[in-house]
Amino acid sequence: MKNNFRVESAEILCVGTEILIGDIVNTNAAYISSRLAEMGINQYHQEVVGDNPDRLRFYLKNALDRADCVIMSGGLGPTYDDLTKETVADLMGRSLYLHERSLERLESYFKGRQIKMTDNNRKQAMIPEGSVVFDNDCGTAPGMAVEDEEKGKIVILLPGPPRELHPMLDNSVIPYLSQFTESVFVSKNINIFGMGESTVASIVDDIMQTSTNPTVAPYAKDSEVRLRITAKGSDKDACASLCDEMIERIRQTEVGRCIYGVDTSLEEALVARLKEKGLKLALAESCTGGMVAKTVTDVSGSSAVFDGGVVSYANEVKKSLLGVSADTLDCFGAVSEQTASEMAEGVKKLMNADIGIALTGIAGPGGGSEEKPVGLVYLGVSGKNGTFTKELRIRNNGRDYVRVSATKQALYAALCEAEIF
Ligand code: ATP
Repeated sequence: MKNNFRVESAEILCVGTEILIGDIVNTNAAYISSRLAEMGINQYHQEVVGDNPDRLRFYLKNALDRADCVIMSGGLGPTYDDLTKETVADLMGRSLYLHERSLERLESYFKGRQIKMTDNNRKQAMIPEGSVVFDNDCGTAPGMAVEDEEKGKIVILLPGPPRELHPMLDNSVIPYLSQFTESVFVSKNINIFGMGESTVASIVDDIMQTSTNPTVAPYAKDSEVRLRITAKGSDKDACASLCDEMIERIRQTEVGRCIYGVDTSLEEALVARLKEKGLKLALAESCTGGMVAKTVTDVSGSSAVFDGGVVSYANEVKKSLLGVSADTLDCFGAVSEQTASEMAEGVKKLMNADIGIALTGIAGPGGGSEEKPVGLVYLGVSGKNGTFTKELRIRNNGRDYVRVSATKQALYAALCEAEIF
């Protein structure tokens, strides 16, 4: 282990008044903490502080009393309120010096963009003495680790913008920190759809109770269940093998029939599966207003399996573009299994696809009735074995909830049609 350092615990201290007043969400803390957890570094506390040097000093001092390492984000910019570096240097009794490599990188960054570098940008190349510098490949402010050998403490400073922080953390900070830790942690998530959390937990209860390495923990999120498998050891590959063995064991249980992937999402699994089978998907959406199409096209490479869809909000569009009959709409209404079925068939034909998926329902908050309440959604699926529909009764937890749940069900139905299970 290098020098005096051993990093068993860390705290995250994010700087920014914008976070405190709710202007931005503190996604940096979530990102950093998940990476620390993977490394097996304990975290007992997190903090956010505004752009105020006195308070920053106070919170940093307390954090350093508790943890081996404090990771900070934000406040490394060129403006007057970016005071993180100065405050850390002052607290740790260091002076700042002009770091030549960072200055050269800054100069070439501005030159490459044909922008004049101002004097305050030079401030970003000032580094506390005794620091390890992390180059910023996606922006201007370098990151750094200020090491206090006497006390065995480290303060790591990272830029605020996530697109700068993420690569710096992954490519520089984690390799740097791994010098000071003994164990590695590897986690893998089993993705499950179509089975509730309590059912999953009861099936794997025995495994959960008796396994200590790897551990197995269930999580429920947005109508899905995940089993997070975490292995601890001294070697990454050995930990990954322990996880894989456990995943195999869980696949052999009743849960296995509802596993659609490992470390993936429904949409990623769907696009991959459709590619594998050479199938094309088409979507006809009413109550989700294009959310399913948006989710599918979030996956890079989805153009290979998805040519397009129709947002058929009005009955006129259901009739003219999708060929839903006027009689169907008159007799059964837009929110009915008959309409969902004709929408799915219509869009499959229109797009010359292999699988047509349709959604029509009542997302709320208005528009519900006793017969057709908010959350009632009909899902139509048209594939190689004909067309069928499913009635979904989604809990009325608000418009977003109904639409997201319906979207997930549509993706799941497409996965089933592509015979993933
Ligand atoms: P810059 O050099 O761009 O000024 P900086 O290191 O000084 O960066 P801040 O000025 O504190 O960082 O934040 C810049 C931007 O980064 C914020 O406007 C915000 O968009 C994003 N950001 C900062 N902190 C966080 C955070 N904790 N979580 C998510 N995004 C953040």
